[in-house]
Amino acid sequence: MGTRGREIVGIDVEKVIEMLNAAYASEWLAYYQYWLGAKLIKGPMKDAVAAELNLHATEELNHAVLVANRIIQLGGTPLLDPHEWFDKSPCAYDAPKDPYVSVLLDENIAGEQCAIDTYKKLMDVTKDKDMVTYNLALTILEQEVEHEEDLQSLKEDFDLLFSRGNK
Ligand code: FE
Ligand code: FE
Ligand code: MG
Repeated sequence: MGTRGREIVGIDVEKVIEMLNAAYASEWLAYYQYWLGAKLIKGPMKDAVAAELNLHATEELNHAVLVANRIIQLGGTPLLDPHEWFDKSPCAYDAPKDPYVSVLLDENIAGEQCAIDTYKKLMDVTKDKDMVTYNLALTILEQEVEHEEDLQSLKEDFDLLFSRGNK
């Protein structure tokens, strides 16, 4: 932990660490949901969608790295036990029980929308108080917004396949 770096945080550092740990839990669950979904996926456009799911998996894992580093920098400890991921994550883990393309897309779109809310809230709390965490949350938020749009545009293509392709 950097002592001066911690002192300049103008809000309760423990609260920031708690919010970061909640986001950290969600990132691991998102990583696994994408990673496994990419392996199990079935149906039309599955190769294109699997490629995007795999890319997002690596990006979620990178978010976990960024968040863990900030937790440690603030003197906190990233959640030590994966059992805690379910308790602490604000976002649900959707087990890919039905691996059909459009079902996985809907589940992952919901996950991205929750991630967007999570980082927006972190930005609201840290604005003008903890600039380093604010900036980190913005960097991740930009990528979550991109993820949502990627998935919604794949879903749109998938839907068009049926509304216009099979006359
Ligand atoms: Fe993420
Ligand atoms: Fe994401
Ligand atoms: Mg993408």
